Amino acid sequence: MPRTVFKVTGKHLLRSKQENERVGGSTRSNHLHGMAIDMSLFINDKYQRKTAAYKPLGDYWESLDPLNRWGGRFDDGNHFERNLRPWRD
Ligand SMILES: [Zn+2]
Repeated sequence: MPRTVFKVTGKHLLRSKQENERVGGSTRSNHLHGMAIDMSLFINDKYQRKTAAYKPLGDYWESLDPLNRWGGRFDDGNHFERNLRPWRD
């Protein structure tokens, strides 16, 4: 049975205001404070573009701490952030 290989890389941990504007980030983006990262998931060396592919990672990230939020909640599947306050009601 072939093995499934998962690889993850990260980018945009900390964006300058100019970089954030260039990529169309929100003016309130956690990337501006080094509190968000965009991950790239590869399954068997194939880059995953769909939010659904990141859901297991997102669910795990949110299970770790109530301050953690996955971007799949706002259709940004490769975005993982840490907040200063719990984001859930
Ligand atoms: Zn992001």
